[in-house]
Order: sequence, then C-alpha cells, then structure tokens
Amino acid sequence: MSAKKANLSGELKKYFGFSTFKGQQEEIIENLLNGKDIFVLMPTGGGKSLCYQLPALISEGTAIVVSPLIALMKNQVDAVNGLSSESGVAHVLNSSLNKTQTKQVFDDITSGRTKLLYVAPESLIKEDYVDFFKDVKISFVAIDEAHCISEWGHDFRPEYRNLKSIIDKIADVPVIALTATATPKVQDDIQKTLGMTNALVFKESFNRANLYYEVRPKVNVDREIVKFINERKGKSGIVYCLSRRKVEEFAQLLQVNGINALPYHAGLDQKVRVANQDKFLMEDADVIVATIAFGMGIDKPDVRFVIHYDFPKSLESYYQETGRAGRDGGEGYCLSFYDPKDIEKLEKFLAQKPVSEREIGLQLLNEVVGYAETSMSRRQYILYYFGEIFDPITGEGAKMCDNASNPPKLKDATEDLKKVLELISVTGEKFKSKDLISVIVGKESAVTKSYKLEQTSFFGFGKEDKDNYWKTILRQATVQNFLQKDIETYGVLKISEKGQLVLKGELEHSFLIAEDREFDLSQTKAESDQVQMQANGSLDQKLFEQLKDLRKKVAKKYGIP
Ligand code: ADP
Ligand code: MG
Repeated sequence: MSAKKANLSGELKKYFGFSTFKGQQEEIIENLLNGKDIFVLMPTGGGKSLCYQLPALISEGTAIVVSPLIALMKNQVDAVNGLSSESGVAHVLNSSLNKTQTKQVFDDITSGRTKLLYVAPESLIKEDYVDFFKDVKISFVAIDEAHCISEWGHDFRPEYRNLKSIIDKIADVPVIALTATATPKVQDDIQKTLGMTNALVFKESFNRANLYYEVRPKVNVDREIVKFINERKGKSGIVYCLSRRKVEEFAQLLQVNGINALPYHAGLDQKVRVANQDKFLMEDADVIVATIAFGMGIDKPDVRFVIHYDFPKSLESYYQETGRAGRDGGEGYCLSFYDPKDIEKLEKFLAQKPVSEREIGLQLLNEVVGYAETSMSRRQYILYYFGEIFDPITGEGAKMCDNASNPPKLKDATEDLKKVLELISVTGEKFKSKDLISVIVGKESAVTKSYKLEQTSFFGFGKEDKDNYWKTILRQATVQNFLQKDIETYGVLKISEKGQLVLKGELEHSFLIAEDREFDLSQTKAESDQVQMQANGSLDQKLFEQLKDLRKKVAKKYGIP
C-alpha cells in the first residue's frame, strides 16, 4: 500500500506538477484503481477532475468521461493535452464532430492512444457507438456533474437518466460519479439511478468559511445595491437577477450611477456575451449583472461580492452562485434581497408545470423561504441542507453572517414544539408541513378531510397564531433536528431521534425562534392565495386528483391504511 502511495505522488508530480494531493484525492484514486465504485461529493473548485484524470492517465485502456456541456469538455481536454508530459491523449466525442473527426477518435481509441474520452450523454447512447465501445479496452467510466441525473438537482438533464443501462452494456468496469451538489435527496437519487448504492462515498465539507452571508428585505433595493457597490469601488462582483429584462435595466442603472458594469444573459448576441464576460475576467469591467446563464465553469478567483437582486429558486443555486465569491480564500460578501412576493410569483409560475415538477419546485422554494427567514446561523442552515452538521458557535466561519454578528430577538417556543411533536406522533408521521399546519390552525383541506383529521383533538389547537408562526416552528424544528424530512417522500415530516427524546421527556431542551422579523408575510400571502385560487379553479381539481393518487401510492408503499 505505502509503495503504491509513494508511486501515486510521483505520478501526480509527473503529470500535473503538483506535490501534494488535495483533500481526499489520493484515497479516491487508490480505491478507483482497486476496482471500487466511487461517489465523490466535493464543492466546486475542490479538485474533482484530477480524481479521474490521473487514474485514467496511468491505467491501461480508455476512460470514458461523461460530461454535460460541450464547452466545458473542450476546456478539460485542452487542459489534459496541455499537461507537460502528455499530449494528444484526451479526446472529445460529441455532436460537434464531423464524420472524419469521429473516425479519427475511434482510431485513436483502438490504437490505445486515447486515455480520456469526454462524451456527451446523448452521444454515448448511440447504438453503433455502444457496439464499438464493447470491443475496446475501457479502464473505467467517470460521470462528472452527476447531479444532472436528478430532478432535484439544479441542472437536470434527461439524457443522464439512461446512463446506467448503457454502461452495463459497454463494460463491467468501475464507475466514479462526481458532483458539487450534495443535498441528501440528490445524493440518494444519483446512487439509485446509477445502481451505486454500495459505492464508497467520499464527501468533503461544503463549508466556505470565508464567505459572509446576509439577507436583507427587498426595500429600496436599487439604492441599497448602488451604495453597497460604491463602498467597494474597483472590486469585482456579480449581481444576479432572474429575468433578462431586469439584467439589462439594472446594468444600465449601475452605469448611470458611475459603476463600471456590464450585462450578461443568454438572449444577448453571442459576440456581446463573450466580450462582456472577457471584460469582466480581464478586469475591464468591475461588475457583471447576469442571469444564472453566467458562471458555469467560470473561475475568477477574486470576485469580492455576489449580490442576489432576486432570490434564486433553490438553496442549491444560491450556494453555487454565492460560491463564486472569494474563491481565492479572500473576502467574499454574499448579499441577497428577499421579498416573499417574489417567491409567490415563482410559485404561480410553477402552477403551470406538470405535477411532479411543480411539487419539486415548491419544496425547493420552501427551503429558500426557510433560509431567508431564519434566525439561526445561515452557515448552519446551508450546511444542514447539504447533510452536514455545523456548530454555530465553534465551527469555522461561525461569525460570518448577519444572524451571527447581529442576532435577532428570540422567543421561547418550547411548549409549541412539544405540541407539534405530539401531533406528528399521533397522526403517524405521514404528513407534510402544509397539511400539518392545516390541522394546527384548524383549516379544512382535502387532506384533512380524507384522513378525518377534523375529528382529532389537535384540530385548531394553534389557531391563535398565524400560519406563518407555525411554518417557522416546523421549519426551525427541522433545521434544529427535532424533525426530519423523509428523503424518499421528500417533505413528509418525521420525528428525529432527538425529537423522540423530547417527546418522552428524556431530553432537557429549549427551542428558540426569532420574533417577527421585517419580512411579514401574512398580508401578502393571503392576497396571493386568493388570486391563485381564482386563476386555477379547474386546474386545482385535476391536480388534487393526481395528488390523491400519489398519496395513495405512498401510503401503500409504507403500509399506511
Ligand atoms: P472541481 O471540478 O471540483 O470544481 P477542478 O477539478 O476544476 O475542481 O479543480 C479546481 C482547481 O484545483 C484546478 O485549478 C486544479 O488544477 C486545482 N487542483 C486540483 N488538484 C490539485 C492538487 N492536488 N494540488 C493543487 N491544485 C490542484
Ligand atoms: Mg468539475
């Protein structure tokens, strides 16, 4: 083993010129070379590529690397071919190649010259390609950006769904899947879809200790942002907006205010887009105002701030986008503006989507609201979302958020938590937050009726308080680990071990939540519910039927009567 270790370091130096491995790279590579299936969860910039590039270079045969974006593939291939001691050992196979080029790629594989073959999933699926791969020596298969497999990820690509059966047809070789998305739901999805539930999992911390997180209510947002940027004259930053129109308007507004800003979105002419991106990278522009189209594969180390003019649609996107700040380890200020009305707009947008997409979208938005309104350490909240327990007092970067540096006033809600735990326990741990809240505030709904929840003594016990109060209780109980969300039936609240102890009176605890903060949702929420009901009267009926079916299936699966 130790001889092998020394050897791997030598290969690292030889091919990449690095003297030490980053994080768990070495163990990952050793295990892959020993024929194990591997699952790597590592934040962006963690050094995932090397985990398959190095073993590919030193193995016999060709490693197939599945990667979603043709542009990213090309960068990677150029990088490998630019390594000092090797050239021409990495190739691309995708729809951008003509017949002659494709044949050249196949010849290089047959001759054993190709060590790394980057393939788009839609190319890998082609039947004659599969037949070809069957007859050549494949060392292993790497699936980069593996979250593309999951609808719960931020970048779902249906072509990724079939990879497992294709790989099985091609060869019986180890598979390494890699992603910077680590929510437990996505992780579970990836492992199941790829048949990798027995894989060795390597997960690195997603904590970005040098980033400062702040959420402000979206009031006077233009003025606030101009002021914020002017206090950081000459520094690099990104402002994210959801719509293209907003991007253009706001870039102009910044320019008018003497800020060197440029717009970026997918609707701009290709030339303009590339030029603007280059100007930002070359520091000819300080600020880029962009939609989410900006950032994939962009590695500018000294971005000092990321501002969200609009809150993103998921915490995953929030993490990825804020993660573009401070990549050099220096200052990285993440400032987001939150308005519950924005969330409602997104909810309405989702109402037009097919039911599964809508359900997923709503859950993701729910998490966003939870994060935006939380009174706890934002770092703790995000890391919890990634399945990581963070100590808000002693953890690295614990002081680096608005809630830690300026703590909100807290209210003791221990008794209310206890009642909620009892309710969940008595009703058999099978309801989602929304349904539980209906019971708590005594509001009849399709679900309360179908389970006859009106007849329980719990119905309406919390009607003195607003829905939002109870939403906060449920959310905070979840992030503080009294409750847990079932991964499989995402959203169903169950009682955690810690919660069980509280129920049995075996755990002394206090449960604190923030007193109403500036984001008062009550009024806007009620209004928008009405609008939505009017708009979707007929739609709701259909959805309701579909939901009922879905619930029946879930109930059957878990043996719930
Ligand atoms: P990821 O895919 O996880 O986002 P990359 O594979 O693109 O990350 O690597 C990020 C950066 O880290 C690259 O510039 C890469 O050259 C560098 N890197 C990777 N491994 C090492 C190492 N062992 N030592 C030094 N730098 C490394
Ligand atoms: Mg990568």
